[in-house]
Order: sequence, then structure tokens, then C-alpha cells
Amino acid sequence: MRRISYIILGVLIGLFGLGILINPIIYHTGLRYQFDFTDVRWPFGGGLIILGAFFIWSSFRKKAIETEKTSRDEKKVLMCPKCIKPFYKKDCEDLKCPDCQAPLEELSGFYERHPELKNR
Ligand SMILES: [Zn+2]
Repeated sequence: MRRISYIILGVLIGLFGLGILINPIIYHTGLRYQFDFTDVRWPFGGGLIILGAFFIWSSFRKKAIETEKTSRDEKKVLMCPKCIKPFYKKDCEDLKCPDCQAPLEELSGFYERHPELKNR
């Protein structure tokens, strides 16, 4: 689901909760049934407001996590096994070496995979 739908859902749930706090008796004309939330108006209405706020909060939190992940990814260093040079992931298209077009490898474990390159 997209962030905007989380926010809309959160606002709707929150408004429904607020509506129950203001007017706990809802008469459903279609069902001809009266919902009476008077006894549970504070836990129910309050709970819905908290749930709505949580939806909105989590959508922003999600965005923050994504941004964090992207920036961490961009700072990731990749190694070219041919030129033995480190490159930032954000500078390399298609994970290829900008100098020699060799496929880049992750820095972690690079020298374990290529022990012969250690003393160059
Ligand atoms: Zn290279």
C-alpha cells in the first residue's frame, strides 16, 4: 500500500474514533440498527484515535526507514576485482567498474574471495 493510503486510512479511523467520543450512538438507517458505544466510548473511541495516529506515524516511519536504507546503500563501497579500486555504489551504473567495466563485488569478504590480491 502507498503512503498516502495509510495516511487517509489513519485519518478516517481517527475521525471515526473522534465521532464516537462526541456522539457514541450511531443509528444505521440501512440496517435499522442502533450502535450504542456509550459504555465503551473512551476505550473504543480513544483506541481508534490511537490506531489512526499509529497508521499515520508508521507511514512516516516507513518513509524514514526507506530513506535511511537508500542513503546507506549509496555509501556502500564496491570493489573492482580487476583494478582493485574501491568505488561508491552510487557512482557505478549497473554495478560495473567505471574504469574497466568489470562487474564490481561487495567490499565485505572481497579479500577472502581474492586472497591473491592482498599483497598487490
Ligand atoms: Zn576496474
